[in-house]
Amino acid sequence: MNNSFRLTVIRGIPVEIHLSWLLIFFLFSLTLAQGYFPTVVANQTSTVYWTAGIVTTLVLFASVILHELGHSLVAIREGIPIKRITLFIFGGVAQMEAEPTNPTTELKVTAAGPLTSIVIALLLGAIYYLALVPGLIISESIFFVARLNLIMALFNLIPAFPLDGGRIFRSIVWLFGRNMLKATKIAVGLGTVLSFLSMGLGFLLIFVPGNLWGLWLIFLGWMINQAGQSSYSQLVFKETFTGIKVAELMSTNLVTISPDDTLEMLAESFLHHKFGAFPVVYGSTTHGLVSLQNMKAYPREKWPTTKVSRILTPLKETMVIEPSSDAAEVMLKMAAQNTGRALVMQNGNLVGLLSRTDMMRFMQMHMVLREE
Ligand SMILES: [Zn+2]
Repeated sequence: MNNSFRLTVIRGIPVEIHLSWLLIFFLFSLTLAQGYFPTVVANQTSTVYWTAGIVTTLVLFASVILHELGHSLVAIREGIPIKRITLFIFGGVAQMEAEPTNPTTELKVTAAGPLTSIVIALLLGAIYYLALVPGLIISESIFFVARLNLIMALFNLIPAFPLDGGRIFRSIVWLFGRNMLKATKIAVGLGTVLSFLSMGLGFLLIFVPGNLWGLWLIFLGWMINQAGQSSYSQLVFKETFTGIKVAELMSTNLVTISPDDTLEMLAESFLHHKFGAFPVVYGSTTHGLVSLQNMKAYPREKWPTTKVSRILTPLKETMVIEPSSDAAEVMLKMAAQNTGRALVMQNGNLVGLLSRTDMMRFMQMHMVLREE
């Protein structure tokens, strides 16, 4: 993640902090120092309240790291390396090098996080009730951390994918159905339902005067919805294109256009072949690509007198790839450059054309065939 700085390395796992976390650090310390501690422990100086606020916030973040370490250490034991742990505005995330390849592994790795939080909550809760004097600032701080760990565990156990609960739900569906993609679809479906419930409840609550929880519920629902959709499409994407080369996807029945053709002739070709773009080739030289968009920008009355060479996208501005390029990488590059097509060339010769539409069609086909 960008805008992060490294805090430490635990068992070979870099622990990073995203800048957005600093905002939450400040808000939490402020709320604790000004709001929470003065109501549970009376008559202390503001230095004491602020120290307690800051220390408690730091301990809370240590709990978040422990939660993520819970996931990470089990993942490593199951053979999945962890790239890094990042703390950001909504908590933490442990980035795995690969997704679990079987449901039991996913179940273990996912459950380890909330379990760690529950153990911390129980431990600190027990210390508070058995060993500490209520009303002291240190006791109340420990009690607060205990409760927040419990809340963290319960929140993460909401079965909305990609929250831990949603992942646990997916691994159980996966365990019985034996199809990860289908299980993910079901888990994302449940997550979507829950996210809409959360947003709906949020909208109802904002009509209750003075109730700001509604906004949080709307925001939370929206975040879960987005995260669920994007992790599903990422998964489909990865499943589809792993190990696939451009040569397998590109179209090779190329219709090329000469740079000396007029736009009138080009229009005929668009109508006749129904392609969205043509490579512009003269002899053995590839000049670039001409698409409907290039043409649309040009006034109609000039079509009979204007040559394709005037409007084409030149080769150096076109995305050029090789038949042996990795399809997944090409797709990511296309998305990043916001381009829909690439020319496939080998040793300076045009050998094919790859469009985003080709790739989407392949992805859809792949999904249908997989589910059968
Ligand atoms: Zn977790």
